[in-house]
Amino acid sequence: MIYDDFLDDDDLKTYVQSINSRAKALKKKGRVTVFSLRHRIYDSGGKCEWCTVSIVKKPFEVDHIVSLSSDGDNEEDNLAVACPNCNRIKATKHPARFAQEIYARTGIMTPLLQRILDDYDIEAAVQKSLFDTLDTDENTPTISPHDDSDDDPPPYIWGK
Ligand SMILES: [Zn+2]
Repeated sequence: MIYDDFLDDDDLKTYVQSINSRAKALKKKGRVTVFSLRHRIYDSGGKCEWCTVSIVKKPFEVDHIVSLSSDGDNEEDNLAVACPNCNRIKATKHPARFAQEIYARTGIMTPLLQRILDDYDIEAAVQKSLFDTLDTDENTPTISPHDDSDDDPPPYIWGK
């Protein structure tokens, strides 16, 4: 969907249907309407609620703060307006972890970040490692140190 002064009704309807059917399939409470979604989107003031980048006249996404696949519900206050970049990086990350990561990157405490960190009673400056146990293992890629000892060219030595 493109953020603009006028949000397309059909786009909203499609979004609402997709959000609600996902929630219904997972037996989550809460139903979004075109009215509530439009309201929720304009609440963002045209900025990604995570990183504050402008989404005016640009594509954006609305997603569940606490994902439906964990214990999130489908109520309006569990929806956040996000730039595609944030939405992609967040994926199914724990919201408090993501909020903390975003704050560490931007240094901007948005109302959304504040609310999430307050909800989980977490200081923004807390070590990220504290959240590691909150993530679901299957979604956290294991990063193994890159062993570059073999593919480095031998050092060039002058005068040889
Ligand atoms: Zn963003």
